[in-house]
Amino acid sequence: MQRAVRTAATVLAIATLFAVLRVLAACGPVVTTATPGTPPEPEPQPLRVAVRIEAPTSAPASQPPESLPAVAGVALATRIGRLSQAECLAELDRLRVPYRAAAPQSGIATPIRLTGPVGAVLYRGQGRTPDATPFTLLDCRMARALVELSAILRRHDVVEVHHYSIHRPRHRGKAVDSGGRTGHRGGMAIDVAHLKLKDGTLISVLKDFKGRRRAAVCGPQAAPGATPAARLLRDIVCQADERKLFNVLLTPNHDYAHRNHFHLEVRPDGVRWFVLH
Ligand SMILES: [Zn+2]
Repeated sequence: MQRAVRTAATVLAIATLFAVLRVLAACGPVVTTATPGTPPEPEPQPLRVAVRIEAPTSAPASQPPESLPAVAGVALATRIGRLSQAECLAELDRLRVPYRAAAPQSGIATPIRLTGPVGAVLYRGQGRTPDATPFTLLDCRMARALVELSAILRRHDVVEVHHYSIHRPRHRGKAVDSGGRTGHRGGMAIDVAHLKLKDGTLISVLKDFKGRRRAAVCGPQAAPGATPAARLLRDIVCQADERKLFNVLLTPNHDYAHRNHFHLEVRPDGVRWFVLH
């Protein structure tokens, strides 16, 4: 009996590891609409990331009004990932998120476009007409996660998020994720490049994060930069991690491809593992 339990645990751990490696492989560098003249990508380094299986004991006592009803033992990202299409759209209506439904899109389960700020924070894509590109399409559940992210951002006086892309139909001619509705392919991940503050200050992940490749991002081992902008970026990432808002949260500490953005991703399959690096 014990042996059967051990075998099942081993199989689960291996399956989780494979799922995580697939996610990390799918999060490539930003789309070609990024800054021209970007230096060529180096060979990918071997990945060394800590995967944590979620085990929260209870929901936090005080939650912002945006929050989904607390479910003890189930993290926020997991609850968002498990929302059905109808439940998710009802949530956007309840929270007065400005959006319109988009045409059925390969890879995205519930495709929408944002038509205004989410929780008083504007999420802007790149280019002159970002709303005409596929890169600003997103799944309803990602929009639901952005409501929660905005609650964190507002505490730091952030009024705009400039992102490289949310949906990416293809990358270098290949489907971004052959598994379908996950990550950028599924409109379930956002690559955050800049934050604009209420006073007009523009904070850049590339210039201001002040990280170190492979170093810890949050917690006692982490060494955030000394500037106010570095601390602000670090606080936002660590508060999102504390709330278990995203299953995958990658920073410039992860690898060269993420030197200029945060990759924030909710898994659509309601998994209970989390990656922060
Ligand atoms: Zn990404």
